[in-house]
Amino acid sequence: MSQYPELSTRHSGPQTSPPGVAFMDDQYLPISEAKISVLDYGFLHSDATYDVAHVWNGAFFRLNDHLDRFFAGMEKLHMSIPYDRAQVIEILCNCVALSGFQKAYVEFICTRGSSPSFSRDPREAVNRFIAFAIPFSSVANGEQMARGMHVAVADIVRISPQSVDPTVKNYHWLDLVQGIYQAYDRGAETTILVDSRGNIAEGPGYNIFIIRDGVLSTPDYGVLMGITRKTVFDICAAIGMKCEARDVPVDEFKAADEVFITSTAGGVMPVTRIDNLPVGAGTVGAITKQLTENYWQMHESDRHRTTISYP
Ligand code: PLP
Repeated sequence: MSQYPELSTRHSGPQTSPPGVAFMDDQYLPISEAKISVLDYGFLHSDATYDVAHVWNGAFFRLNDHLDRFFAGMEKLHMSIPYDRAQVIEILCNCVALSGFQKAYVEFICTRGSSPSFSRDPREAVNRFIAFAIPFSSVANGEQMARGMHVAVADIVRISPQSVDPTVKNYHWLDLVQGIYQAYDRGAETTILVDSRGNIAEGPGYNIFIIRDGVLSTPDYGVLMGITRKTVFDICAAIGMKCEARDVPVDEFKAADEVFITSTAGGVMPVTRIDNLPVGAGTVGAITKQLTENYWQMHESDRHRTTISYP
């Protein structure tokens, strides 16, 4: 155990969070003790970028892709942290090792931080790095994976890529959260937001794919370049299936043979109802099933694994 850092155990308050381990201000802490100042601009202004990777059977999946996106995001936002890539990997592995989780949801964040004078000048803030590991969780639960999710197309436009660069993973989620409430009002389980030109965009924590006549399509405008989305492109290339990144009008979305959403939190997840109407036959489609299988199979390949050594 000596090569592992100490886990501070001051006190644990009421349990308002899942179990887990966090790293902040150069310390590893139980997740319940990882707290930031209310003066951090990450909290006050959503001035932050982050990433979420997952650990499956004791190894990170595609960690390098997540790190590429995270470091590129910090650069675009003029942020920096006092840890290089190798140190960030070590911190993330330590959070997971100390938590003991074989399957984990691992988030790492850079906030603008705060400044001694509460200055409006973002250059005066000291950026803050936080990481944490909690148990793996999925957008779709077991029942939804088996029968497909029920979604509603919101009449809310996803924040414009001209306003916030969607390739920088960010916490501008007010539109997404209002979309969830709209979905509940309409008897659905989650939401699909649109872009300003009448195409589908993305949902809270996921990208969207349609399948029509055996061809996959996914929006390319105003969305996060998801790592799971990229994995679907890789799978399609490997199995010889056509997959296009292009505008997908709402009408075409509703007329698709199959629909699925993709996220680090759950992988490839089927959608079988849109606005209370069935997608295709209304059951999970054969291609979606195949891609889900391929996705989890890929987790066994050493190429994408960063193995954690546990105490
Ligand atoms: N779109 C948004 C807005 C997200 O927040 C996420 C992930 O959290 C995704 C798409 C899916 O990205 P990934 O596959 O990298 O998890």
